[in-house]
Amino acid sequence: MNIGFIGLGIMGSPMAANLLKAGFAVTGYDVSAERVRRLAELGGKGASGVVDAVAGADVVVTMLPDSPQVEEVAPLVVEYGKPNLLYVDMSTIKPETSREVARKAAAVGVRAVDAPVSGGERGAVDGTLSIMVGGAPEDVEAARPVLERLGTTIVHVGPAGAGQTVKAANQLVVGGIYGLVSEAIVLLEASGVDPAAGLDVLAGGLAGSRILDLKRHTMVKREFAPGFRIDLHHKDMGIALAAARAAGVSLPLTGQVAQLVAAARAQGHGSLDHSALLKVIERLNAA
Ligand code: NAD
Repeated sequence: MNIGFIGLGIMGSPMAANLLKAGFAVTGYDVSAERVRRLAELGGKGASGVVDAVAGADVVVTMLPDSPQVEEVAPLVVEYGKPNLLYVDMSTIKPETSREVARKAAAVGVRAVDAPVSGGERGAVDGTLSIMVGGAPEDVEAARPVLERLGTTIVHVGPAGAGQTVKAANQLVVGGIYGLVSEAIVLLEASGVDPAAGLDVLAGGLAGSRILDLKRHTMVKREFAPGFRIDLHHKDMGIALAAARAAGVSLPLTGQVAQLVAAARAQGHGSLDHSALLKVIERLNAA
């Protein structure tokens, strides 16, 4: 099976590498020539543009930053894809953009599913992502052999766009946990308690979470190399609040977390990992 892979960043690059390891032929494209070159070094084929990556592909995967990039790339995928192409967008974008992509794809016989992921760079590298898939049941089943090489939890959550709504829910929970872990660290340190020891106990109890497992040590050491950039989480909080508005519901904690993420960005931390929410909570408490 030939796979066209577009967007070879922090997530896309290891995901494409896993597809290569699984024996798929992968043709990759990214606006960064350096990232295309790295895929070629791993045994993939470098493409000169989106159209080149799509030509001859049975499946196209996109892993792009945000809705505008998908809105730019998806029409080319749909136009230049071969008949019956399966298009799997794994970027985190607005649900309505995914619905629009699926609608336009269906009009020309391209099968499109939205399949955003959770699990971070570690999950992408290890092939253990959680993947929430929206689309027609038969298209989701067709995508499964590819998705199973990228993740271990793959759930069909509803029609086109539903994957993105689940991802929005995921992001508000993740943001909330980072905010509260940050507050726990600030409380422990201000009280003269070793935060590393304190968080070790939390990790083993009811407050335990994947975030505490993976990030408590780096947070305590103030190591904030991304990972998942604050800029991207800011985008995701916007998606979550817009989804809440569209659904007519009030999510007060999500609103607060969105403001903390906005503050991190305003303080110049947009390129840091989202665990850098700690810097915002620290600054709130600085003398
Ligand atoms: P990234 O910025 O590292 O990667 C995006 C890549 O897309 C970059 O290499 C960029 O050059 C490329 N790109 C941008 N516009 C393009 C275009 N028009 N054509 C081709 N390539 C283009 O971002 P990432 O961290 O890999 O995240 C990608 C998506 O996955 C985002 O939607 C993000 O929200 C989501 N996500 C990220 C993580 C994470 O931990 N990093 C986890 C889950 C989901």
